[in-house]
Formats: sequence, structure tokens, C-alpha cells
Amino acid sequence: MEKIEFFKHNLTEEDLELANQVLRSLFLTTGPQVAAFEKKFAQYLDSPEAVGLTSCTGAMHLVLLKHGIGPGDEVITTPMTFVATATAILEAGATPVFVDVCPKSGLLLPEAVDAAVSPKTRAILPVHLYGRMVDMRGFARVAAKHGLVLLEDAAHCLEGSRDQVRPGQLSAAACFSFYPTKSMTCGEGGALVCSSPEDAAWYRSARHHGISKNAADRYTKKYEHWDMEMMGWKYNMDDIQAALLLNQIDRLDALRQRRQDLENLYRELLADVEGLDFLEAPVPGEVSGHHLFTVLLPPRLDRDEVIKSVQEQGAGCAVNYRAVHVLRYFRERYAYRPEDFPAAYQIGQRTISLPLYPKLTEGKVARVCEILKKAVSQGQ
Ligand SMILES: *Cc1c(COP(=O)(O)O)cnc(C)c1O
Repeated sequence: MEKIEFFKHNLTEEDLELANQVLRSLFLTTGPQVAAFEKKFAQYLDSPEAVGLTSCTGAMHLVLLKHGIGPGDEVITTPMTFVATATAILEAGATPVFVDVCPKSGLLLPEAVDAAVSPKTRAILPVHLYGRMVDMRGFARVAAKHGLVLLEDAAHCLEGSRDQVRPGQLSAAACFSFYPTKSMTCGEGGALVCSSPEDAAWYRSARHHGISKNAADRYTKKYEHWDMEMMGWKYNMDDIQAALLLNQIDRLDALRQRRQDLENLYRELLADVEGLDFLEAPVPGEVSGHHLFTVLLPPRLDRDEVIKSVQEQGAGCAVNYRAVHVLRYFRERYAYRPEDFPAAYQIGQRTISLPLYPKLTEGKVARVCEILKKAVSQGQ
């Protein structure tokens, strides 16, 4: 039987053709396609500004630098995320401070962060995990109360909203990833949205060495000397990436709905599996990006055995995520113990992500469920 892949991207022939047109042209790097992408992406997120970058990690790094966060500063974040959330803080020279997550949802809660603020805290970096947004209104209140910068890791949530708020609307900036498993992709890529035009101008300079003229200016106009005005990095999105992304934006909402329907089917088909737990489903009025669907295996099962069995039976699966504080680098550098953040640790030990993407059929979801049930019953 055909293997069920863990993930398939949604690039179409039209997307490839647009990228091909760029490749056949003279100009390949940051230029008109990036500008068009930024305009459309900002509109999609109902945000005044978008900046095209090469990764979400780089985006978070730049946002921290823009707000003067560096050595000696602490940034509060979640241990239940991909490592990049924490490494972006380290890249800026600051210290990530973890606060444990809600055991039911895996999300960081404003009350818990409020209680953990110290004199060294300068920023809060929550993650919209699995596509579900955190309570941004709550985080905005905590940030205002303590005078902190609020930024968002929105790698899992381009499409969502909660309490009528979308990513980027209540924070200094929201950061996105276009890595292959994200809801739209250009291979590797990222972006941020923000409301301040001055900040956006800073990011456009900082993504490109901090020099005064970008390649498009230099190419289209007569030669003029450029200057390096500030320290900059090399995070600029190019026109090939932007061309691949441009029309994917139009399809995001339909694909999100499809993932929601598939997740609902999973929840229905797996409802009666003994010992299997789910993370909280999106609540009414909330729009989730439905980026990942994960289940929590019965605690006494050996997860690695279940993963092996699922894969041997022909279905892809993954772990999103083992808690960041138990990963070797963090464990050794900060002497963390698993029980320091028990909710994140427990989720990280039990979680397994099942295939969730628009090209998956209902029949394949049913087959994945049968495969998982068999793996779970074998492991008992
Ligand atoms: C994918 C991902 C990132 C990193 O994105 P890149 O574009 O690869 O830098 C950061 N945070 C989360 C939650 C992610 O899933």
C-alpha cells in the first residue's frame, strides 16, 4: 500500500511558473517580487507593514535587536516550541527564561508570565503552538503593565485569530516561517509583520548589511555610492522566494479550512482509544491555523516503539516537540531538570504528530487512525 507521507507542500505549477519567470529574468535577488509579496502579505494579515526575510529565526533575532534587547536582558518564552524560538533569543545575546505551559493546551498563559517577570525581563515571546493563538490581549496587558516588548513566534499561525486579534496586531512584530512543512513555503524563508513604518524601514536595512541602497536600487538607477549606516545582517528574501510565495497567500484560508476538517475527523475517529489524550481543541470564536495535529500517547507506552510501529505500517509521524529545556545544549548550559517545567515536559514525552495537510484524503486519515490504534494496542 502507498506510504502516507507526514507532509506534502502545496506549491502549484503556477507558483513554479512565476518563479521560473524570475529565474529567466536578469534580476534574482531582493526586488519587485519581494515588494509585491510584502504588500500582499501585509494585506492578508491586516497589518500595515510586512518585511520579507530568509527565516523566522532571523526575523525574531532582528525584532529583538531592533528593540535593544541583548546581553544582560531576559526574554520570557515557552519551553514547548521548536528550538529556534529560544536560539533567536541567544543569537541576540539575551537569556531565554522559560515559563511552563498550560497542560491542557500546551500554550503559554499571560498569568503565568506575569508572575515570572523579573527586573531583568525585557520582552515576552509567546508561540502560537500547533496553529492556536495564545491570548494576545492578555499578553498585551502584561507587557504594558511591566513595560516589556511583546513579539510573536507565529511560525504555526498565519491564518488564525483570537478575540478578533490576528498575529502582529498587538505586538511589536509577529514572525513567520516559510520552511517546507509550514502552511506556505518557498523552501527556506520567513517574514515579519509590524505596524510601525519606521521599524519596517529599519528591518529592510538590517536584513541587508545595514547599507543605504538595496540591490534593486543599485541595479535600476545610475551608480551612486552607497554607505553602511548601521550594523546589518544577511536576511533578505530574494525575488525567487517571493515569486513562489505570492499566489500561495490566496489559497491559505481554503487550505486552513481543509486542515480543520481533517483534524475534526481525526478527533472523531480517535475519540474512543483508551488512554489516548488530546490537547484542547480550538474554542468557538477562535480561528486556528491547524498547523499540526498531535495526540498524547498513554503515559506508560514507549513512544519510540509506537513511532516505529506507525512508520513500519506505512504512515509518517513526527514529534513536535520534545521540550526545549531537556535538549542537551539547554540542559548543559542552564542545568535544567525535566521537572523544572513539568507540563511542557509531560507533553514533550507523550506527544506524537499525525499527518495533517490538505492533500491528505479522508480515507488516509482513517488509515492513519487504524495504524495508530494497532500501534497503541500492541504497546499495551
Ligand atoms: C519552523 C519554526 C521556527 C523556525 O522557522 P525558520 O523559518 O526555519 O527559522 C520557529 N518557531 C517555530 C514554532 C517553528 O515551527
